[in-house]
Amino acid sequence: MSKTDLIEKEGQILEKMLRIHCRAKHGNPRELCPECAQLLDYAVNRLKACTFLPDKPVCGKCPIHCYREPQRSRVRQAMKFAGPRMLFADPRAAIEHLAGRMRRPSAKVRAVALRQRERLKIDA
Ligand code: SF4
Ligand SMILES: [Zn+2]
Repeated sequence: MSKTDLIEKEGQILEKMLRIHCRAKHGNPRELCPECAQLLDYAVNRLKACTFLPDKPVCGKCPIHCYREPQRSRVRQAMKFAGPRMLFADPRAAIEHLAGRMRRPSAKVRAVALRQRERLKIDA
């Protein structure tokens, strides 16, 4: 999949999941509330700047975790809530996301993860 297609696809899934969360937790049945809309913008911008494109891992399994706080906690909370509900809202996207979590990481992701483990050993 091309970089542009991947960004578009992941952005759409993010929006769907944030909508599920916003509807249930912030009472907005149609549109994202301003806070969630801002969070979606932030997440899509992170996605566009992702250093691992075009073979990015799912963000939940990324060795970098490029989100800052509080966005990182907010996205994690929303994904945790919306994840299981995505099976009903968009089963295909949910299964693709699960498959992404199980996929072997790209060489670049593995190299970054290895460097991090080595750094942790040195710091310990
Ligand atoms: S968390 Fe990792 S995979 Fe997700 S956008 Fe940031 S660098 Fe890319
Ligand atoms: Zn909201």
